[in-house]
Amino acid sequence: MMALQQKRCELEEQGCGGCNLLSLPYEKQLQKKQKELKALLGKFRKLQPILGTEEPWHYRNKVISTFTYHERKLDSGIYIQGTHKVLPVKSCLLHQPALDEAVEAVRQAARVCKYKPYDEERHTGLLRHVLARHSLLTDEVMVVLVTASPVLPGAKNFVKEVRRRCPKVSTIIQNINPRATSAVLGYQEKILCGRGYIEDELCGVRFQIAASSFYQVNPKQTEVLYQTAISAAKLDGSQSVLDAYCGVGTIGLTAAGKARSVLGVELNKKAVQCALENARKNGIKNARFLCEDATKFIQKMADRGEHVDVVFMDPPRAGSTQEFLDAVSRMKPDSIVYISCNPETLKRDLEILVKKDWKVEMIQGVDLFPGTKHVETVVLLSQQKPDDTIEIDLDLDELDATSAELKATYKEIKD
Ligand code: SAH
Repeated sequence: MMALQQKRCELEEQGCGGCNLLSLPYEKQLQKKQKELKALLGKFRKLQPILGTEEPWHYRNKVISTFTYHERKLDSGIYIQGTHKVLPVKSCLLHQPALDEAVEAVRQAARVCKYKPYDEERHTGLLRHVLARHSLLTDEVMVVLVTASPVLPGAKNFVKEVRRRCPKVSTIIQNINPRATSAVLGYQEKILCGRGYIEDELCGVRFQIAASSFYQVNPKQTEVLYQTAISAAKLDGSQSVLDAYCGVGTIGLTAAGKARSVLGVELNKKAVQCALENARKNGIKNARFLCEDATKFIQKMADRGEHVDVVFMDPPRAGSTQEFLDAVSRMKPDSIVYISCNPETLKRDLEILVKKDWKVEMIQGVDLFPGTKHVETVVLLSQQKPDDTIEIDLDLDELDATSAELKATYKEIKD
């Protein structure tokens, strides 16, 4: 990999905390992530070397900026780490530059319209956050203006002022969040202009993304992640596939060309609508999507004695549930491909699966979040056959105190 220039950010000293690995050269960041993954997951299997990127800057396709008063003017930025104090941010080394342009246009338009930032303590004011998403495919930006109450005076003028300053903004949505909560989005939405969604492309499939849908923030590395996950499953066109926690259907629809059938399950209703629309628009006829809790759904499948050949599971940071893992084991697919954004909950869930005689065949880190401590991991599991052995990857020093028994066994094998 080419040597990548290191950059400094003045916001770091002011407590931004968004890019906690910024001071490390990119190669060192990758080494650190690999080491951390190995410490957590090495006991299951020897890890593949982490897959890094040639472009560790300006990769983020999504930004959330929170409104505040700064020097008596409406401004917006990021919460200082561990506080509810907003640090104004004009530009960020991780954002697609079009996002910073769009957010600047929103700030200026909001000042023209004399909107007031929402005050969390007093529950006064109107504007809470702006969420903006960029599409690499179309170079368009979707703006979601989160307000504390439904009435946005002079909305037409606001739209005009934003689009005049940033023509890349193709759609603006007002999201209403009156709740006293740290969740950014509320449940009610109004489209102020445009289609109310944005389109992007991953692995040759087009995706429609709604304001509230989950969508990976680094599109180039997402392709690497999905290719890794799909090739791990060794699809040959004959398998039935379950895409659990499917979001807008990205993994299932990317896999559909190599599978007999795809069934996706997801809790967010808007995301499921997008997944169905994505299947239709791409002419993919062998994929279905359902809106349900993944655990309840898979339990019902297992109770009915239904079978799938391959399960992709990509749960949120909290990981999956004991009940999901019990049910997936009862269904006995040939393989499980677990895609995780949190190695800690991944470790917990793998421990459960290994106890149920699943064998870890491959562990691969993929860096989707340069500059930050986060990492994605793909794990392939298959049903263990009685005479299988696994090569593990452990440093004795890295084992925690609780695994004394394992330590002793491992030392015995090693010696
Ligand atoms: N596979 C998708 C989304 C992964 S993020 C992608 O790669 O883009 C995790 C997804 O799980 C989110 O879309 C979230 O809405 C969904 N989710 C969270 N809890 C869930 C549950 N209990 N059942 C089903 N889906 C859930």
